[in-house]
Amino acid sequence: MKILVSACLMGRLCKYNAGHNFRQAVADLAQKHELVEVCPEVMGGRTIPRKCIEIRNGRFIEADGTDVDAEVRDGVCQALEIAKKENVELAVLKSRSPTCGVHQIYDGTFSGTLIDGQGALTEGLRALGVRVLDDEELLSCPELL
Ligand code: SF4
Repeated sequence: MKILVSACLMGRLCKYNAGHNFRQAVADLAQKHELVEVCPEVMGGRTIPRKCIEIRNGRFIEADGTDVDAEVRDGVCQALEIAKKENVELAVLKSRSPTCGVHQIYDGTFSGTLIDGQGALTEGLRALGVRVLDDEELLSCPELL
């Protein structure tokens, strides 16, 4: 199966702080599946490192209010094009990211407050009919591992 994955979960140093979110279970998927890595924020032109972003009133912003919506959404569009071209059947994305988050995201106040919601990539993938799991759920899907 072809699986789209958040590149930071594979250990790529693409997080806002130039770190990664490596998850062994995600990397292990490569033993049985073909993985397609994307980092929509970097694909849209965001730098490494970069300022944290959250979604407020439907737009991606930095903590000082700088609106970076256009570049992030451009990266999301590029990632969705790849998902379509590669015919991915599943995505495993980083939990709680405003771009890749699956069940919860931060509320746009930069206060560490989580709310129910999804990142823009997840929203786009679900609209395409692609099943999306986050890295934490993957551990409860032994059929994939
Ligand atoms: S945009 Fe997604 S892939 Fe890129 S660092 Fe954030 S969570 Fe990871």
